[in-house]
Order: sequence, then structure tokens, then C-alpha cells
Amino acid sequence: MTHAGLSKVWAMVLAAVLAAMLLSATITTGARAQEPCTGQVVLDPGHGGTDSGAVNTKYGLTEKEQNLDVAKRVKTLLEGDGYSVCMTRTDNDTTLSNNDRYTYANSTGARVLVSIHMNGSTNTSTDYTTTLFGKWRKDKELATAVFNSLSTLPAAGGTGTIATRTPYSFASGVLLKSEMPATIAETVFITNDREGQLLSDGTGTRQQQIAQALRAGIEDYLKTH
Ligand SMILES: [Zn+2]
Repeated sequence: MTHAGLSKVWAMVLAAVLAAMLLSATITTGARAQEPCTGQVVLDPGHGGTDSGAVNTKYGLTEKEQNLDVAKRVKTLLEGDGYSVCMTRTDNDTTLSNNDRYTYANSTGARVLVSIHMNGSTNTSTDYTTTLFGKWRKDKELATAVFNSLSTLPAAGGTGTIATRTPYSFASGVLLKSEMPATIAETVFITNDREGQLLSDGTGTRQQQIAQALRAGIEDYLKTH
């Protein structure tokens, strides 16, 4: 074989290797990406994968797991009421950027996006509920509706309802770059000692209370907008 011929063979081998690499990269990305979904509501369980979010080490709780648990309950409740729901993640191994979250949300045609979180503090007696909004005109009414329903949650310790912090503005890409009204629900403090007890008692009662409150706020908003 001539020198020129050898170069041609190497060029073909190189092209084949590059094509294989490109193909495998496409397949990997495709397997990781969320399934396409069309729905009225996008639920976004906060954190996930390598990002655990806030943790309660005393009760062995991670925010990523609790957020997903609550989100799955909200999905079931909303679907029971006839709403279609898409989720940014459905397992605890998937790491999502804010870009992944709003890009997915914007692909669903949904009317609302609700990002589900639990708050964290070094003070284990701190506990309140709040919601965040990005753009006032786009998000404020959804943030208020979800806040109003979360405010009916029973207090984790003692009697009455959970303490509240008035919804406030937060410059998150998930809120600012999503095309539909969006809010981040900081449902309860996972670091609170009583919340930790309730969330880890194995009954799912606290998670269900939070889910029911989120469902009520979302449905209140959808019925009036
Ligand atoms: Zn969080």
C-alpha cells in the first residue's frame, strides 16, 4: 500500500471512531433527558442527584428525597382531580441544572410551574412556610395562592398553624426563565426538630399534608386564571 493509501485508511478509521463517539454521546444524552411531556402543571422537585439540598442528619432526611416524595403525592392528587402533570425529575439520581428545569418546563406547554423545596437552618427550632416569586406580574399571584394554602398547614409542634413568611422576590433562573407563572414553595424546614420527627415517622402523614396544601393552592390558582 502506498503512503497516500495508508493515510486514506487512517482517515476512514478516524472518521468511524468520531462517528461512534458522536453516536454514543447522543444516546447517553437521550437516556438522561426527561421524557417529553405535555401537561397543565409542571412540578419541579428541588435538588436531586449530587445535590442533596438541606439535610436533617438527626433523622436521616435529605431534601432531595423529601421534595420528590411530596411532588409524587401532589402529582397523584392533581391527576385525581383531572389535571395533567409533568415532573422535572422522577428519581433521586438525576442532577438537574436550573437551565434543565426551565427548559423542560417551557417544553410542556404547562400553565404553571411549582418548584417544591424544604427550607434549612442551623437553628433546629426554626420553622415557617413561604413561597418565592421571580417576576411580579408573571409569578406573584401563583406564589400568593400557594402561600395561602401552605399557611393552613398544622404546626409541626403544638397547636395552630405553621408560622409564615410573606412571599418574596428571588432571582432564580427557574422563576425568571420559565415562560409560565412559577413559584418556589419553601414548604417547611426540614432542619426543624419536630418536622424531622414527623417527616421520618414512616407514615407519610406530614408529606401528605404538605402535598394536599400544594394541590389546593395550585387548583385555586388554575380555577381563577
Ligand atoms: Zn431547596
